[in-house]
Amino acid sequence: IITLNNICKSYWVGDMELQILKNINLDVKQGEFVAIMGPSGSGKSTLMNIIGCLDRPTCGTLFVEGRDISKMSDDELARVRGMVIGFVFQSYNLVPRLTALENVKLPTYANSKGNMDFDKRARDLLKMVRLEERMHYKPNKLSGGQSQRVAVARAMINDPSLILADEPTGNLDSKTSDEIMKIFTDLNNKGRTIVMITHEPDVSEYAGRIVHLKDGIIEG
Ligand code: ATP
Ligand code: MG
Repeated sequence: IITLNNICKSYWVGDMELQILKNINLDVKQGEFVAIMGPSGSGKSTLMNIIGCLDRPTCGTLFVEGRDISKMSDDELARVRGMVIGFVFQSYNLVPRLTALENVKLPTYANSKGNMDFDKRARDLLKMVRLEERMHYKPNKLSGGQSQRVAVARAMINDPSLILADEPTGNLDSKTSDEIMKIFTDLNNKGRTIVMITHEPDVSEYAGRIVHLKDGIIEG
């Protein structure tokens, strides 16, 4: 579903070129659950942003569902991002003034897949993460684990084939982390592809494959 061929990414700081990712080759197949691990600063989030089409690589080719993203306009890329990928972040990124239900429905306001009953789907997704009785709560009335469950439901609203998660359990205790990982495992068992960044070995064990990133290079 995702193929990276010799992907690199660099930033210019003054007149110095900082190479963050160096010739990354990675193939993620439909239905896989992959964990990306590596020390702080190794380029994990940079890689995630490229896989998620939030950022374009400096060189190399990225294929998403077989399509070369370098041949897409920014608008097309945004549409692929919205339809194919669901995002989960460490900091939940919920909108404080919206309820859980409104947050889950939010990413649908930007697209036009008009044939889906998003209200029903959002309620069903909140049921899936066992938050149906809190769907009208605002984020400040939810715990960290509950907030992340809302974020997972939101990531699923457009029925994406891929879920990308950057340190999804980074702010959670181990019991709550396990709850989130069980939800990911369920989604993966139902055929969803998951790519997740994590620092935590316990969390990475839920994945079917672990990729190690160090200094912008995939090891092993
Ligand atoms: P962490 O585990 O701390 O989240 P990470 O592996 O996700 O780290 P990245 O956020 O991908 O690491 O950053 C990799 C390197 O790229 C860091 O040295 C960072 O300072 C640098 N970097 C990231 N974004 C930029 C930018 N916009 N301009 C310059 N350097 C950047
Ligand atoms: Mg990071």
